[in-house]
Amino acid sequence: MRQSQLFTKTTKDLPADETSKNAQLLIRAGFVHKTMAGSYTFLPLGLRVLRKIEDIVRLKMNELGAQEMTMSMLHPAELWKTTGAWDSVEVLFKIQSRTEREYAIGQSEEEVVTPIIKEYIRSYKNLPFIGYQIHWKFRDELRAKAGIMRGREFLMKDMYTIHENQDAFDTFYEQAKKKYLEIYSEIGLVTKVTEASGGSFSKKISYEFMVLTNAGEDDILYSEKSNYCINKEITELEEGDESPDGSGPLKLGKASEVGNVFDLGTRYQEAFDFSFIDKEGEGKRGVMGCYGIGVSRIMGVIAETLSDENGLVWPASIAPYSIHLIVLGKDKNGEAYKQAEYLYKQLTDNHVEVLFDDRELQAGEKFADSDLIGIPMRVVVSDKSLTLGGVEVKERTGTTSDVVSVDQCIHMFTKAC
Ligand code: ATP
Ligand code: MG
Repeated sequence: MRQSQLFTKTTKDLPADETSKNAQLLIRAGFVHKTMAGSYTFLPLGLRVLRKIEDIVRLKMNELGAQEMTMSMLHPAELWKTTGAWDSVEVLFKIQSRTEREYAIGQSEEEVVTPIIKEYIRSYKNLPFIGYQIHWKFRDELRAKAGIMRGREFLMKDMYTIHENQDAFDTFYEQAKKKYLEIYSEIGLVTKVTEASGGSFSKKISYEFMVLTNAGEDDILYSEKSNYCINKEITELEEGDESPDGSGPLKLGKASEVGNVFDLGTRYQEAFDFSFIDKEGEGKRGVMGCYGIGVSRIMGVIAETLSDENGLVWPASIAPYSIHLIVLGKDKNGEAYKQAEYLYKQLTDNHVEVLFDDRELQAGEKFADSDLIGIPMRVVVSDKSLTLGGVEVKERTGTTSDVVSVDQCIHMFTKAC
């Protein structure tokens, strides 16, 4: 992509009410545009990041044997009344049509998936059911001050499963937790698996995947010497107390939840009167689970936690582009532009994702923009670099650059991708 063609521009102007660091950086760099508090447009650069997170999540869900679908977002009120959520879920957006019918907009989709399960799953032979989607959710959140970390609309991966019995569920539950950890590590996030309450869903404990950050809204107690971690909500333990696993004193930290897994038991099967025929010919409810990942929140958490004083820092796996190619100099017909154009063509022909800053701006401005946008690798072509023997290659977080020849540069990056 030629930066001269990119319709977004970096900016110093911020909406007056934007106080969160993640949104400030993402707005300044042109990744998102704020429509209103809690509601953001993902602009071309931001959408590339979102899609990359989505792709990683999708691949891992498919590895679990899950089948993707896209469920409707607009639901008749009756579905939500069936479970009582119409009255009990405060964040549910409700709308009335001109014919005075009532509808809900999806905030989670147990109420939609359970009737689907009921339609298709009749026998233990049809189990397990493992379905998911990556789709927008709408919630009437009161505190929409954390930028894209807490949206009123946000992208979530939500998976729902039904297993024949508790044993089969427990086995899958462990596999799902493991997959979640693979996802976060591939995205470049360090998460803590945290014991939490089953919330309104169930009395059992659930597991949350937490990233330590002061921008988070949860309080967690964790051991620095082991994996022990618990949400402050469900424990009497205090900071400094001995960890229940004996690994040392507990630390208190603020964290953001980037995913969770729940054992839902039989609640939804009962509400919708779903049962299947087991091996003995008896009707059974089975065990249901739900598994969420905050796709757009992850993007916010990365912006929040991995950025530095100069701007965003994207992990290579989800960066909008792999390389920021920058050409310097005033002469559009000069050697630097010629070499930069050649490099751009060679790299993009080889499917390397390049953002090419071909704009006629001062070096300082280009470097500042490049730092703000946060692409992992920067390649600078200038008269100076050509005199030194080629192009300057620098990592976004590095302090020094290496000079490599144009051909070496092509070889280096086409091999890496
Ligand atoms: P929270 O406690 O942060 O409100 P939640 O318990 O309501 O989260 P779920 O309903 O289980 O979350 O949603 C699954 C995932 O979706 C969460 O783990 C989180 O990553 C993400 N998520 C939830 N609410 C929002 C939101 N308002 N904006 C962005 N992401 C969200
Ligand atoms: Mg919530």
